[in-house]
Amino acid sequence: MNTKNQQSPAHTIEDVVNEKERVSRLGRIRQFIFGTLDGLLVPVGVVSAVAGGTGSTKAVIIAGIAESFAGALSMGAGEFISGRSEAQVQKAEIAKEMKAIHEYPEFEFQEMIELFEHEGVSKEDATQIAEILQNYQQSYNKTMVEKELGIEMQPDTVRLPEAFTMGISYIIGSIFPLIAYFFFPINIAFPLSLCLTVLALIIVGIIKGKLADLNLFRSTLEIVLVGILSAGGGYILGTLIPKLFGF
Ligand SMILES: [Zn+2]
Repeated sequence: MNTKNQQSPAHTIEDVVNEKERVSRLGRIRQFIFGTLDGLLVPVGVVSAVAGGTGSTKAVIIAGIAESFAGALSMGAGEFISGRSEAQVQKAEIAKEMKAIHEYPEFEFQEMIELFEHEGVSKEDATQIAEILQNYQQSYNKTMVEKELGIEMQPDTVRLPEAFTMGISYIIGSIFPLIAYFFFPINIAFPLSLCLTVLALIIVGIIKGKLADLNLFRSTLEIVLVGILSAGGGYILGTLIPKLFGF
């Protein structure tokens, strides 16, 4: 809820629609945070493993860039594909519901009354609401879909902005573990990369904790620990595996 809107009595239909946009923007920020988090956690492991295993900044940079783009692509494509199949399933459900409203109007009318009763509206009032809604087919259908199926009447089939947000935020995240290797030799770049990654993790942890209303200290500590595990695990694996196989 927006406190500014509550204070102003002149509150138009547009304000109400904008409210929905504001919530969707919040969702975008959340995606950005999660994308960046993945972009920090996975690359720091890969970059540290290559650094430990090869000791070559060139190898680290090549692996880091490849991982960053592959990760971004897979995150973006994943978001795109899952969004599309979700919307397809939802559309099929909506079509079924529309068919039912058309073929069994009386049954669906009773259902509409029950849906309102379920929300605590008295039988009398629920019947009246359903009767009024019946005069407005579009609102009737929309109410049925939203209340009975719990989904939007027009599900987003193409979630391009979401897919881009995911991909780009992954790349932004991966800059932190990688950037130091462009300018410094391994022995300086490795600790610097860890410091930058931990710093970014702390920032992301604070934002994430604020967004999700979590305990700030705990959520940040968790993220930083996972980051250190990823980097440390990567470094140890990168050092051990080549030795194990006698490279
Ligand atoms: Zn129904």
